[in-house]
Amino acid sequence: MKLCRFDRDRLGIVEEDFVRDVSAVLERLPAFRWAHPIGDAVIARLETLRLDIDRVAASAQCLKLSDVKLEAPVGNPSKIIGAPVNYHSHADEALLDRVLHQDRPVQAIDEIGCFLKANSALAGPSTRIALPFLDARVDHEGEIAVIIGRPAHKVKASDAMAHLAGYSLALDMTVRGKQDRSLRKSCDSFAVLGPWLTTSDEIRDPADIAFTLSVNGNLRQQSNTALLIRSIPELIEMTSAFYTLYPGDVIMTGTPAGVGPVVPGDEIVVASPQLGRLSVTIGLPNAMDAEPLTKL
Ligand code: MN
Repeated sequence: MKLCRFDRDRLGIVEEDFVRDVSAVLERLPAFRWAHPIGDAVIARLETLRLDIDRVAASAQCLKLSDVKLEAPVGNPSKIIGAPVNYHSHADEALLDRVLHQDRPVQAIDEIGCFLKANSALAGPSTRIALPFLDARVDHEGEIAVIIGRPAHKVKASDAMAHLAGYSLALDMTVRGKQDRSLRKSCDSFAVLGPWLTTSDEIRDPADIAFTLSVNGNLRQQSNTALLIRSIPELIEMTSAFYTLYPGDVIMTGTPAGVGPVVPGDEIVVASPQLGRLSVTIGLPNAMDAEPLTKL
């Protein structure tokens, strides 16, 4: 199943070039509470919601995919986790490029583990990526993201896949500089997810997801999760050893060689035969189409 969030929190299932609006199933979600449960309410209930989705889908309104505004397929993650230098090809290019290594050692993922991006950086395909400063280089990092479905606490790699809701394409946008990763990778709109969530039952082999990234039609990145240094189950084991992963949490699994700068007006496309095509445009500072979420 391909699940999308669109037009301000509507829930859809994607079938070829159409979206079936199955938002009626969201009426069964519990009423708002202050702080609990942690995580994404829809992803947390996906297993039971799927039965309802199947039931209402046949008579659901069918919209053209091109007529809806797609949002990140996760609404409320408790964490967006990044994997640093998780492809040998990116490690190699980082060693050779001073802008990437900033005169510091390129540390292996087994040494430094993973990092966090601010949740407020989350964005979807219909949001422009806003460059925070015109004088700082901002790079694209095309990645495969996994979305947690069931809470995971100290989970072994051999059991990890049972905790997965699904996959999406991702952009881990990055300011180059000497600041900590958690600052440079957390600007508003710097965690792009989309175009939808492909449920894990649709992906036969998580270690064989091919993807490419192009800018204005020019291919810049091309790889496959087969080449990850730490595999998807290993990333779940590594991170859940430190903190509980909650439904809706996102792990961006790392970027291959080919990272590079973008400027306002550029169109980035991340594409995968299994996960679809995520297309976003780079805007000027403060050019995000979405308003900050200051109102309930
Ligand atoms: Mn990255």
